Amino acid sequence: MTAVSAREVKELLRRHGVIAKKGLGQNFLVDARVLDGIVRAVQPDARTVVLEVGPGLGALTRALAAQAKRVVAIEKDESLRPVLEDVLAPCANVRVCYADCLKVRLEAVLAPDLAPGDRLVFAANLPYYVTTPILFQVLESGLPVSRAVVMVQKEVADRMVAPPGGKDYGVLSVGVQYRGAVERLFNVPPSAFLPQPGVDSAVVLIDCEKRPPLRAADEATFFRVVRAAFGTRRKTLENALAAGLHMPKEAVRDKIVAAGIDPGARAERLSIAEFVRLADEMAK
Ligand code: SAM
Repeated sequence: MTAVSAREVKELLRRHGVIAKKGLGQNFLVDARVLDGIVRAVQPDARTVVLEVGPGLGALTRALAAQAKRVVAIEKDESLRPVLEDVLAPCANVRVCYADCLKVRLEAVLAPDLAPGDRLVFAANLPYYVTTPILFQVLESGLPVSRAVVMVQKEVADRMVAPPGGKDYGVLSVGVQYRGAVERLFNVPPSAFLPQPGVDSAVVLIDCEKRPPLRAADEATFFRVVRAAFGTRRKTLENALAAGLHMPKEAVRDKIVAAGIDPGARAERLSIAEFVRLADEMAK
């Protein structure tokens, strides 16, 4: 059976002799309305293959499997196997891969389950200690993700939706906004989880079908340039890039000017379009 209330989750953990592991970010969802909100944002249908990271006790996995074509879930904690086998027993369209998602190639994990014409969606109630690395793994994978629906810490959501110019605008903002239209769907209080985290959370949608019409000529260069630009926040763009990319300052300045940008500007003022132009110059 699936467990979505605090009482049901406690009972499921007790029955399987499992204790939530803080070190793995195990805060299980116990609010059916939040779970429904995530499922609705995924918009699962008969064409949808969902990649889920961290199925935990399987509540979201099972709700998604009821409407999607397939769910492929990656769970690091192998001791949850008996719980997931129990909860997901009625779902023939779910495959759980027990691995650290940061140590696998997502394309390889998905390959057996992804067919031409499928609509791929990434969905996760993310473990907060590795939110950013997991998001970047998906963003940089090149997988044809049509949308991503993720539960993150509220401060991470602030950074994901931040416009240029503010203190929250950084590598994460540029990375996600390069991939699609980013929207905070709703905030989630600690009481929606068991055990309760010490922070507020939010569910964020990245709609990659509404991405800005910008493509970097070389995406690896784009992400390298963005990371270097924000590497040292107080430096000018010119100094940050020279330090981060180990390039002579003059060469960096020429590239920045060729991209039509002021070398004295700071990374937090640059739009996504300017980062793309800069990366394209750097890739030449
Ligand atoms: N999806 C469940 C829910 O909503 O109740 C659990 C979410 S819990 C916040 C995060 C889950 O991610 C846990 O099950 C944890 O074991 C798993 N996890 C943590 N680090 C991971 C990693 N590197 N790779 C895969 N799963 C991971």
